[in-house]
Amino acid sequence: MHSHDLVDITIIGGGPTGLFARFYAGMRRASSQIVDALPQLGGQLTALYPEKYIFDVAGFTKVLAKDLVRSLAEQSAQFGAREHLNQRVVGLEEGDGHLVLVTETDRFPTRSIVIAAGIGAFSPRRLPQACAAPWYGHGVHDVVTTPEEYRGKRVVIIGGGDSAFDWAHQLQGIAAHVTLMHRSDRFRAHGATVAAVEAAVAAGSADLFTFHELADVRSEGDRLSGVQVRNTKTKETREVACDVVLPMLGYVSDLGDLLNWGLTLEKDEILVNSQMEAGRPGIYAAGDVTTYPGKLKLIAAGFAEAATAVNQAVHWIYPERKVAPGHSSNMEIFGQKDD
Ligand SMILES: Cc1cc2nc3c(=O)[nH]c(=O)nc-3n(C[C@H](O)[C@H](O)[C@H](O)COP(=O)(O)OP(=O)(O)OC[C@H]3O[C@@H](n4cnc5c(N)ncnc54)[C@H](O)[C@@H]3O)c2cc1C
Repeated sequence: MHSHDLVDITIIGGGPTGLFARFYAGMRRASSQIVDALPQLGGQLTALYPEKYIFDVAGFTKVLAKDLVRSLAEQSAQFGAREHLNQRVVGLEEGDGHLVLVTETDRFPTRSIVIAAGIGAFSPRRLPQACAAPWYGHGVHDVVTTPEEYRGKRVVIIGGGDSAFDWAHQLQGIAAHVTLMHRSDRFRAHGATVAAVEAAVAAGSADLFTFHELADVRSEGDRLSGVQVRNTKTKETREVACDVVLPMLGYVSDLGDLLNWGLTLEKDEILVNSQMEAGRPGIYAAGDVTTYPGKLKLIAAGFAEAATAVNQAVHWIYPERKVAPGHSSNMEIFGQKDD
């Protein structure tokens, strides 16, 4: 097992809350690092809605989720703290006067922890059909990061929720053709997006198959060339030629071992007090993973909670340092003078 250097604050989760926590730790001259299970920073913004606009982040009239992540990552990296990606935290141990976070391959000794784990380590829900399994990564993709990759391609989207309809809508004009397939006629998507996709169907640029499921995958050589789909009511099958299948079946998320750390929990969320303390000395929590009366699961709330959690952690590690950070506009670390 690879053991990393001891730092002041280890942040579990590199979503917006964790990124802002890392910035704040640097501003308070505390060493820090982010540990995240996903291969990219950004949490839900990167994994679930990179191409969607966000309208309620202070300072932006509107901002694409992926652009907000880029800005947060840039701000967060300025003090040199690292991120360790593809590292899912699976355990917590007591070290010699410090804590140790354990992943499958690494150990992260740390003086304190800020848990910014959101809805937990999440992974896309996979198609249950065994025929799809060998095609994941080349022909079957459950995360869309760059829509341009689908330019000129015939795309089959499977699902009936927001992501399925969002992509069926957003790939209009990019993909050569879009077929959306869902196993019922009940959609869990925004009405306006459903209407937009139905309009595309009426205009002949998309197909919508309700009560259909994947029956088989067709290939030419090592290339996916189509799917056989089955009507769940009549059991009739039909062939759909396509280049790409995008299963949009939602995510499975799991807080896993965090639930066994003796923290104050309420329905699988961490019940924090106004100092963002999580029920065990040196452990704080912020963002979507937390709950308290009046909690808002929003990016803006996560930012404020991250600042509180880090300021408390810094004071806990170094009691001589005040909880209140002072104003960044006066800070020497930014080359400013106290006025
Ligand atoms: C479709 C959609 C649209 C949204 N639109 C808006 C909006 O317009 N405005 C708004 O304010 N909010 C919006 N939200 C909510 C917003 O995305 C969340 O409030 C925000 O992502 C919470 O940030 P977070 O950093 O606390 O958690 P997350 O973004 O969930 O990040 C948590 C990170 O922790 C990691 N993690 C979890 N467990 C572990 C572990 N054991 N080991 C290692 N890493 C772990 C995860 O991999 C993840 O990267 C939207 C959400 C969705 C799904």
